[in-house]
Amino acid sequence: MKNLKIAIQKSGRLNEKSVQLLKNCGLSFENYKSSLMTTVANFALEILFLRDDDIPEYVQDGIADLGIVGENVINETEADVTYLQRLGFGRCTLKIAIPNQSNAQELRDLEGKAIATSYPVILKKFLDSNGIHADIRTISGSVEISPGLGLSDAICDIVSTGGTLRSNGLKPFADVLSSEAILIGRAGIANDPIVLELMQRIQSVLRAQETKYVVLNVERDNLDAIIRLLPGVKSPTVVPLAEENWVAVHTAIAEQDFWDKINKLKAAGAQGIIVMPVEKIII
Ligand code: ATP
Ligand code: ZN
Repeated sequence: MKNLKIAIQKSGRLNEKSVQLLKNCGLSFENYKSSLMTTVANFALEILFLRDDDIPEYVQDGIADLGIVGENVINETEADVTYLQRLGFGRCTLKIAIPNQSNAQELRDLEGKAIATSYPVILKKFLDSNGIHADIRTISGSVEISPGLGLSDAICDIVSTGGTLRSNGLKPFADVLSSEAILIGRAGIANDPIVLELMQRIQSVLRAQETKYVVLNVERDNLDAIIRLLPGVKSPTVVPLAEENWVAVHTAIAEQDFWDKINKLKAAGAQGIIVMPVEKIII
């Protein structure tokens, strides 16, 4: 059987997390920075290292079967690919920003203005859907300096912390798209056995990242109160301790309400709480 190919970013913001995700899925491969392609030793997959901008089209055209790339790039290239899995990393927002001194208040105030961006396709769709006609100026980098140079009245660019905006005298004005890394596939690949196996592994890694394994000690008298605090878990494991009337409870807790849960468990009599990361959850 021919190996499938997955395209990931060669270097940049998505490279490390993409490599880590695949390694966490148990794939064993060399990550040579200089090579364009590497073979996974223990899975029927080759990894192509590409510029992120090229990934959606490579997948659309079937040169790669799968890819990991930001939603912003997928939308901008308008490639015809299938979303297989949201991956939860590489989060960022594409925003319109305006100079601090601008008196634009609402989207309508952008009518007829010049907006510099590396995302002309996404920006045009956004403006069209809001009934605004603006002069979109496509530039490939350093978009945020263009208002200061008198080249545009606003910009549309990826913002994560806002630091770059501030240092260029700009302020956020409107959110255009929130993005994260996505596992994409070419047409017809979603039910391939190798893809199904890879997706099952990816999902088990993602679930594990959202979960902590918790072990705590509690007096038997308080056990019911503790178990009531652990809904969602079918039934926690309860193990007797050497000390009479004490038990250890083993359970999994979702990352999102972790601190809230831990504080409630403590208040209900939990002691010696140990928290451990989870590597994989297979269901
Ligand atoms: P390449 O050399 O592959 O073309 P690039 O310079 O275009 O790389 P990066 O800056 O490495 O791209 O960003 C890759 C992706 O990471 C972006 O397309 C976006 O999806 C995501 N991302 C997450 N946070 C940010 C951020 N703060 N700024 C830019 N991109 C971000
Ligand atoms: Zn790029």
